[in-house]
Amino acid sequence: MEEILVLAEHRQGELREITFEMLTLANRIAREKGLGVTTVFLGHEAPHLVEALKGACDRILQVEDETLARYDADPYLGTLDAIIQQRKPGLILIGHTAIGMDLAPALATRLSIPLATDCVDVHFGEEGLEVLRQIYGGKIHSRLTLKPSDQTLISVRPGSFEAEREQSKSAEKESMAAPEISGLMRRRFLEYLEAALEDVDITAADILVSVGRGIGKPENIPVVQEFADAIGATLSCSRPVADEGWLPKSRQVGTSGKTVRPKIYIALGISGAYQHQAGMKGAETIIAVNTDSSAPIFSFAHYGIIADLMQVLPVLREKFTSGS
Ligand code: FAD
Repeated sequence: MEEILVLAEHRQGELREITFEMLTLANRIAREKGLGVTTVFLGHEAPHLVEALKGACDRILQVEDETLARYDADPYLGTLDAIIQQRKPGLILIGHTAIGMDLAPALATRLSIPLATDCVDVHFGEEGLEVLRQIYGGKIHSRLTLKPSDQTLISVRPGSFEAEREQSKSAEKESMAAPEISGLMRRRFLEYLEAALEDVDITAADILVSVGRGIGKPENIPVVQEFADAIGATLSCSRPVADEGWLPKSRQVGTSGKTVRPKIYIALGISGAYQHQAGMKGAETIIAVNTDSSAPIFSFAHYGIIADLMQVLPVLREKFTSGS
């Protein structure tokens, strides 16, 4: 294997964070194995995005075409198929995002190559390529050794690696013409629709007080809202709270909710399942209150309090408002 291919992901004129997270991983593997890292950029008239990738990889393979301006399954699939057949990279990394979940299985099937999805770590062990995945809602880590293959496709879970935004490299640029795939276009992109912003924007808050199923009943929400108001925080929640209709969906943090990066994230009665974690692990300081000392959230919170949240609220309020 000489080359690791990383598919750059972009949306609405911006590179997605997962791109740099995968490049961090790819560069680590490349250093260990003496390989090169090539970023594949499929797009149209986005030189600033290509430029932003320059410092983070050895090579940028750019395919410029109107059909690639945004993610569209058929042109992406046809183009990546052609690139992989031509270059035969040993390892291909794609984000385990909405795009990657659509693209990776189809690509692996088309090329008849192995695929490991939703991986939180990848490295070469004694017996070959090893991946780490989380199962049972993040309670168990499963380490798998993949059968040897000339090429392997891996989808990487967002938030698994801190994007180092390495800028020390100076990638060579290479261009490739988009392959002719018009006969394979079975779908057509119509329009990009941004979900309407209702209620408050939790992504803009500096302090979030987030409630989970541990809140017990909707009658307890006003108590937490009062606490949040007292410390100048915005209220957010885990998915069950939104699903129950105790707080609006716009307040949900996680893979099917919002990704937040507040200065302080106070998680009250939230177990810390990976779907929730993925949406908040970028917070500067995470404070978790949970009655269960083995709750997964304690493995990544900066401060943990093992207690009933309703009993802790007055104490936390006192601490925050007195400044001690
Ligand atoms: P639980 O897992 O039930 O945890 C409740 C916690 O409260 C427990 O740890 C318990 O010990 C604690 N507790 C109970 N009583 C108290 C008390 N009195 N005081 C303190 N602690 C107490 N989840 C999300 O949050 N966001 C998402 O975007 C999201 N997307 C998903 C997408 C998919 C495709 C799937 C399959 C799942 C998704 N989930 C998401 C659900 C996720 O897997 C978890 O089920 C969910 O995050 C659990 O929410 P929770 O921590 O509030 O509840």
